[in-house]
Amino acid sequence: MTLHVLQDTFGRVHDNLRVSVTDRCNLRCFYCMPAENVQYLPRPEVLTFEEITRFVRVMIGHCGIRKIRLTGGEPLVRQNLERLIEQLATIPGLNDLALTTNGILLPQQAAALYAAGLRRLNISIDTLDRDRFQQMTRRDSLEQVLAGIEAARETGFHVKLNAVAIRGLTEEDLVPLAMLSRESGLEVRFIEYMPLDAERSWERDKVLRTETMLERLEQEIAPLVPLGDHAPSNPAVAYGFEDGRGRIGFISSISRPFCAHCNRFRLTADGKIRNCLFSTEETDLRSLLRSDASDDDLVLAVQQSISAKKEGHEINTARFLQPDRAMHSIGG
Ligand code: SAM
Ligand code: SF4
Repeated sequence: MTLHVLQDTFGRVHDNLRVSVTDRCNLRCFYCMPAENVQYLPRPEVLTFEEITRFVRVMIGHCGIRKIRLTGGEPLVRQNLERLIEQLATIPGLNDLALTTNGILLPQQAAALYAAGLRRLNISIDTLDRDRFQQMTRRDSLEQVLAGIEAARETGFHVKLNAVAIRGLTEEDLVPLAMLSRESGLEVRFIEYMPLDAERSWERDKVLRTETMLERLEQEIAPLVPLGDHAPSNPAVAYGFEDGRGRIGFISSISRPFCAHCNRFRLTADGKIRNCLFSTEETDLRSLLRSDASDDDLVLAVQQSISAKKEGHEINTARFLQPDRAMHSIGG
């Protein structure tokens, strides 16, 4: 079989695919979803597990995709997700299968996901403060998320924690989350707030920048040293405290965009290919998957999307346009 490497016009090779399995969620994080009246995709528009598996198999076999991350919305609200994991985990050539979750349903699902072949989880937790958690997610679910993290660890998952960092809101969470990393050994990754919220209330001033976070953590805990052990395509730059306890990642999407090394693209829950988180254009794969299109037809459609990928997201220029879709509908 000929390998069709997904290289764009800037020489970037794409071997990393994010697959959204739903746009639904059991939280309402203000930086992602609207508070009410969410317009969910009608169910027939959402790809079936069989359609997702076929696409992933073609991407691995024909295009050299090596990493898959399942996301959403909240992936664990999709019924019987472990069946999809089971189908994907056995595809030859897949080196890395991971999932991003808010953790709420992990106490019930961790064992089944592990048994199905999943080993890596990123769990989102922005704060350890119950009131702030409720303010940010519009739900009182901090205890469930903490129980989810515990369940994941007990089951044997490799776990990383993700926290969105927002200026004027989450400064007081930096030290408690870093201390959690120091005490638990889990990597905590702070993500700069991006303009992907449904309510379009993002402002540049609300971005808590990596430099500011680094300064605060060094002042209040201990000096941080870059670990230099991440691949250039990994958006998180990792630091360790000088005393060796705690590992902190920073995803500096706004202050230090990493587009030059981007190796990823996305499949939305309704089967659209997006060559960038901030794309304003999409390629419809679902209609191909639901016609008699061949595997080569699927490859060609993806190749065309990757060839059209822009050099960068241009967030820091006047040309930037916020995509029509919000994060929960794109698949973060
Ligand atoms: N529901 C799952 C979760 O929250 O982990 C998976 C989907 S969520 C869209 C994926 C990641 O995107 C989460 O870590 C979330 O915090 C992050 N995220 C959502 N909206 C964001 C935004 N506007 N800026 C930065 N990160 C965001
Ligand atoms: Fe749901 Fe994740 Fe979006 Fe929060 S960030 S609303 S948990 S999809």
